[in-house]
Amino acid sequence: YQRIVLAARPRGPVAEQNFRLESVAVPALADGEVLVRNHYLSLDPYMRGRMSAAKSYAASQALDHTMIGNTVGQVVASRHADFAVGDYAGGLLGWAEMGVADGSLLRKLDISRIPLSVYLGAAGMPGMAAWYGLNQIIAPKTGETIVVSAASGAVGSVVGQLAKLQGCRVVGIAGGPEKCAHVREVLGFDACVDYKAGQLEADLAAATPDGVDGIFENVGGATLDAALARSNAFGRIALCGLIGGFNGQEMPIKNSRILLINRLSLRGFIVTEHMDLWPQGLEQLAALVAEGKLKYHETVAAGLAAAPQAFMGLLQGQNLGKQLVKLI
Ligand code: NDP
Repeated sequence: YQRIVLAARPRGPVAEQNFRLESVAVPALADGEVLVRNHYLSLDPYMRGRMSAAKSYAASQALDHTMIGNTVGQVVASRHADFAVGDYAGGLLGWAEMGVADGSLLRKLDISRIPLSVYLGAAGMPGMAAWYGLNQIIAPKTGETIVVSAASGAVGSVVGQLAKLQGCRVVGIAGGPEKCAHVREVLGFDACVDYKAGQLEADLAAATPDGVDGIFENVGGATLDAALARSNAFGRIALCGLIGGFNGQEMPIKNSRILLINRLSLRGFIVTEHMDLWPQGLEQLAALVAEGKLKYHETVAAGLAAAPQAFMGLLQGQNLGKQLVKLI
């Protein structure tokens, strides 16, 4: 089967030469292991961090090893009691058409309720990040105003819809008129500000007449500053991501004084450190998707060889919704 390894660490923007596609033999299964044919690979911003050698919350991805990645697929061989051939399973099998994992590291997936790919998006890690940051950090009350950046993306789209379901006014920030139209018309946000239109602060002010009580931050830099400038007293900020600084750009917070005068609280989080809440959160998210109350959009690249370009596209904002690679 084919896989993609990290060939070289990026210096600046990620490039095709950072990756290498290669063929490998299917390994024999040890006791407890499961062989999965991956149907979808998820491309996520965190992979950019793993490609770099810089210190972070998780160790770097090793050179010449399969690129890390969340996958969903179907069991083709099993030496684990909980998995039978034909079962659907999610795991971290990486940028590869197949993979072996210990059964204890795989999650069995029910595709009778929601499609398989959704377990990589709204009912998977990105959805859980949205659920955690919104419910555990922002803890919104009915009638409050919530701002979320990268609003059309995998995480942001879920944040806004969950906040709407809790009776909030929800304002997104996204790049370009098409994304903003999607955020308003398909996802049902009250407003969406196009930061590429060049007047983010004024447009965000117009969209938040009652100020901002919760900020779900995915980007950082000017986006965060604009939201801080609109904050109300005792506002909460869930710092989920800083994709605006992924290529080493500095992201100073100009409005730091507002943190003090408005007595704001800001908390960063890493969703994989809260596994105890995943069963509860994922169950809610899957149920909402199944009931049609949580909408999702996918941008799907075809075939493993397309993964590097699709990943570079994700880091340039070319995706709408969840970026996936369809492998079969
Ligand atoms: P998205 O699907 O939102 O895709 C990334 C989007 O970021 C792009 O489409 C783009 O949308 C937006 N963006 C804004 N500014 C930039 C920029 N300067 N460069 C590139 N893209 C930019 O990704 P996810 O929903 O998967 O992730 C969103 C954020 O959440 C990321 O920061 C990620 O690291 C973080 N995250 C954190 C987790 C945690 O545990 N803390 C878990 C999962 C994700 P636009 O065109 O609108 O600008």
